[in-house]
Amino acid sequence: MGNMRTGNDKMRAKQVKSGQVSKCGLAGKCGGCAYQGTPYGEQLKIKQKEVSKLLKEFCTVRPIIGMETPYHYRNKVHAVFDRKKDGTIISGVYERNTHKVVPVDACMIEDETADAIIRDIRGMLKSFKIKTYDEDTRYGLLRHVLVRRGFASGEVLVVLVLSSPILPSKNNFVKVLRSLHPEITSIVINVNDKKTSMVLGEREIVLYGKGYIEDTLCGKTFRISPKSFYQVNPVQTEVLYQKAMDLAGLAGKERVLDAYCGIGTIGIVAGGRAKEVIGVELNPDAVRDARTNAKRNQVKNISFYQNDAGKFMATMAENGGNVDVVFMDPPRSGSDEVFLSALAGLAPKRVVYISCNPQTQARDLRYLVKHGYRAMEAWPVDMFPWTDSVESIVLLSKLHTKQNIEVELEMSELDLTAAESKATYAEIKQYVLDKYGLKVSSLNIAQIKAKCGIIERENYNTAKNENVKQPNCTEEKENAIKNAFKYFQMI
Ligand code: SAH
Repeated sequence: MGNMRTGNDKMRAKQVKSGQVSKCGLAGKCGGCAYQGTPYGEQLKIKQKEVSKLLKEFCTVRPIIGMETPYHYRNKVHAVFDRKKDGTIISGVYERNTHKVVPVDACMIEDETADAIIRDIRGMLKSFKIKTYDEDTRYGLLRHVLVRRGFASGEVLVVLVLSSPILPSKNNFVKVLRSLHPEITSIVINVNDKKTSMVLGEREIVLYGKGYIEDTLCGKTFRISPKSFYQVNPVQTEVLYQKAMDLAGLAGKERVLDAYCGIGTIGIVAGGRAKEVIGVELNPDAVRDARTNAKRNQVKNISFYQNDAGKFMATMAENGGNVDVVFMDPPRSGSDEVFLSALAGLAPKRVVYISCNPQTQARDLRYLVKHGYRAMEAWPVDMFPWTDSVESIVLLSKLHTKQNIEVELEMSELDLTAAESKATYAEIKQYVLDKYGLKVSSLNIAQIKAKCGIIERENYNTAKNENVKQPNCTEEKENAIKNAFKYFQMI
């Protein structure tokens, strides 16, 4: 994603208006900007089409929200360091699908201050006798440099990824770098001594400043540690979050879940518009940031949990937890079935699904529309101009029982004759819970389906070993489930 740099044609890139075509000297080599040579307006059309193709079977896809000035938007810049055969030190990006470093000086999508800092660090290495790390021999010290810049705050964090915790003449190094770039507010060593393609290692040593930056989004201030996720395009992030808030339609009374919450940005923005917010995130550093961020912004109705989002939701569903609105913003791989089935079980009224990969989003929507949800609308947002990545937000709404019947009638019109297609397990469970206050399991439903002579496709009621006796459903639950079958016209 977006690591394209243009060598010396920075000026040319700046002159490009949305109708014109920019051409970077490294196009096709660095692999960052798939749409080099394509006018910006055209890029938006391509992305619109792509999202429509994947999501139109679920709902209306609204017009993509593009970026006004689609240059130098990346607030996080990563450079890998290497040495050429003649000893010249280079920094840049890996060539597409290889571990060969393409040297680059500047890039039309990266933050310009960050690029300048990386160039100057490269220039300092020789006099400080700092060797670049060689992946094959595992000899040398400097592996990568990562720069993060707060778009609103102007704070700058420099992370030096080293193969060892010892940086020679470190105090002097900090002094020289700060004199070249007084805008730097923190410098951190990250130790990565493993043979790995991961950029960051575990251990961090703060050389200067706080060890993190702060930035402002949607009127709230956020602390961002080196290993925490933060959206790379701050201008479009505000647009994205605003759209997410609009779709969530919070009125102040809701219990909200922010799943895959990172440093808590979405939940904290939602905090002032809801009764209570819960955030869940796997990365411990991000959770620590999220807790600090809640305090920093005096948002008191929010709590954060460090856990796998799916496991957390499943436990919540088992304990009869209740949630009105869920924001979910998973990584590119999307969500998993543990998460999605727990979500269906928790049955929030609305789900706002933010995704940076519409392919996995479409896959997950397919599951949710089969389990009691209807997709209402989708909004593509261009977070990554010049690259082929696109973000999209989908609003899902829980079907009311009445709507379920309507949907199921449509299904029978399509001649889906199997009686069990009348209602899903989740819908039956929900009906029994709403009407009788009873929690029934899928096994219970399957047993009663078998009793009533409804064909059982999934064989929930068949034990793997015939000698294993399965617990029977209580009479009270049996009657409740039968009433649900009647209600859904299955018997
Ligand atoms: N909503 C945040 C972060 C989105 S990125 C924002 O807008 O900034 C996705 C986040 O999901 C990352 O912070 C990542 O650490 C986290 N994550 C990845 N897998 C996870 C899992 N299984 N459970 C919980 N969080 C996970």
